Amino acid sequence: MIDPIELSIQVRNQVSKNDKRKYYRFRKTRFYAGCATADCLGCNLRCAYCWGQKKVWNPNKYGEYYTSTEVNQKLVNMKLPLVRLSGGEPTISKTHLLSLISLIPEETLFILETNGILLDEDFVEKLSQFHNLYVRVSLKGVDELTFEKITGAKGIYFHNQINALKLLKQYNVKNRAALLPDFFTDEQIKSLGILNLEYEQLIAYPFVVKNLEKKGIKIIRNS
Ligand code: SF4
Repeated sequence: MIDPIELSIQVRNQVSKNDKRKYYRFRKTRFYAGCATADCLGCNLRCAYCWGQKKVWNPNKYGEYYTSTEVNQKLVNMKLPLVRLSGGEPTISKTHLLSLISLIPEETLFILETNGILLDEDFVEKLSQFHNLYVRVSLKGVDELTFEKITGAKGIYFHNQINALKLLKQYNVKNRAALLPDFFTDEQIKSLGILNLEYEQLIAYPFVVKNLEKKGIKIIRNS
């Protein structure tokens, strides 16, 4: 069973060098009606449905290191009203992330996609200084058991995700929770008690379906 905090430390050593972080792609995407996206490498979970796992879980094999200034330049050069960090888990390299957000022009909305595991009070307080920040927390289960099955990480860390949402609200950081609904009943989803939950979409590559089957995770509806 994975300990995501320990794994974060291990992965940080592979993807961070001073202010630099490893990325494998910069692209224009149609999400949020068009946004400049940087995909980072390295994650602290091992989700059964992770479609980017080949690269994201193998940061030694892929990508290059970029400073926050270089990443900012690449994103701003795409000349879109929104920028987004995605791919792996951006919060693994907190210094790089804070530096990058501080460089993004204030009129550009910065979308941080995260699993929320590392969003403790100290970090959320630091994030709250940025008024052009929007944090999207991707929930990986509806309780400890489902979180554990999906992520391969200790169930207790499910509460980090829920706590991250509470802290973001407490510190007035714009945020929204997201969930891939395919594995849960309406009752299970309702039990989260989260209004305005965004539904993610399962990208059912054959290797993803195989991984889900191997872990005994059943698709009970289509997102
Ligand atoms: S949190 Fe995202 S990047 Fe990390 S393993 Fe899960 S799906 Fe992949």
